[in-house]
Amino acid sequence: MPLFTLRTTPAILLIAFECGLLSAGCGRMHSSPLQGATTLQASAPAQSRPAEPTDAELARAGVNEAGLVPILEYHNIKPGKAITFRTPGQFRSDLQRLYTEGYRPVSLREYLQNRIDVPLGKHPVVLTFDDALRTQFRYRPDGNIDPDCAIGILQRFHADHPDFPIKATFFVLPREAFGSKRQAARKMRELIAMGCEVQNHTVTHRYFNRLSDAQICQEIALCRAAIEQAIPGTQVDMLALPGGILPRSHNRRILAAGEYEGIRYTNQAVLLAADCPAKSPIVHRFDPMALPRIVACEASHGITYWLNKLRAHPQNLYTSDGARDVVSIPETLTGQVDTGQLQGARLRIYKATTSISGTPRPAPTHRTKHSAIISTSLVPHLLLNGGIE
Ligand SMILES: [Zn+2]
Repeated sequence: MPLFTLRTTPAILLIAFECGLLSAGCGRMHSSPLQGATTLQASAPAQSRPAEPTDAELARAGVNEAGLVPILEYHNIKPGKAITFRTPGQFRSDLQRLYTEGYRPVSLREYLQNRIDVPLGKHPVVLTFDDALRTQFRYRPDGNIDPDCAIGILQRFHADHPDFPIKATFFVLPREAFGSKRQAARKMRELIAMGCEVQNHTVTHRYFNRLSDAQICQEIALCRAAIEQAIPGTQVDMLALPGGILPRSHNRRILAAGEYEGIRYTNQAVLLAADCPAKSPIVHRFDPMALPRIVACEASHGITYWLNKLRAHPQNLYTSDGARDVVSIPETLTGQVDTGQLQGARLRIYKATTSISGTPRPAPTHRTKHSAIISTSLVPHLLLNGGIE
């Protein structure tokens, strides 16, 4: 299924500005999903916690929990020329590179709720899969999961690297999810049991700029209902826009909440298909209703481009302090934190000048560098990418 038909320049520009990475005037139209969440301090017994790292240890690890988080976007896991194809070998290589460079998966919900739980010095990454394609979840004739499908590859990688958990978010078309109407519900339930998330990608994948607001509500509501019927008790409140296309009415409220024939929905996050890293959930102008992603492809500004960019500028990357209930940032970045987004976590500001290893760490020019990485690349790319299917 084609990913991008971003042929209309207004839609492209809108996505760019909706990313919240370019426009200082891009305010929210919704309440934060983070409001009302339980504090994490209450659930973590103090006596079980290891000693907190010192400022010097945080500096040596380059800790920056106000940094960027890549949300990777996969589709077909098989050979193909379009940007929506990634071979099993390429996917394995992606996982190996992520692991080697210190990334560890977190779920989309953990990211949204500022419950990022990766070890000291490691970086969170969110893995997402769109379209519920058969190459993402396929059984072999013997009933076992095919080791060359996405979930089979993730399982194998986790078995070989136990500190790389199976956490991924599948944005599904529920009627024939993963290529089988008969097995769709079973596969969705299995994904949840493995630790993954199953979320909303609408019922028919029609682009929202071709639908009325009422039709968009129908698409979102019916998808939510179908997933919740297949997986009783699951929470479906995240939406990946088909093709990354926003409603032609520019009415973002219907993405956040709506109703169709008595089926109500609310979404805590809306994911775009624009390719750049996402902000930390605790910084100003973090907008969960317009989350950018990085397409796992070799095209311009795909996964390799961005991983190279982040590797070259590690001070811009989210680097964990290893404590889920503490948000640690170097003092040079204090102004970036929106304390209203901490969700019960404690803010720790450390002096980055006490490094004991000489490891590169956030410098006073961080904000400038951060802005430069995003602004010099995103808009031209979105414009250039207008014809990609
Ligand atoms: Zn899609």
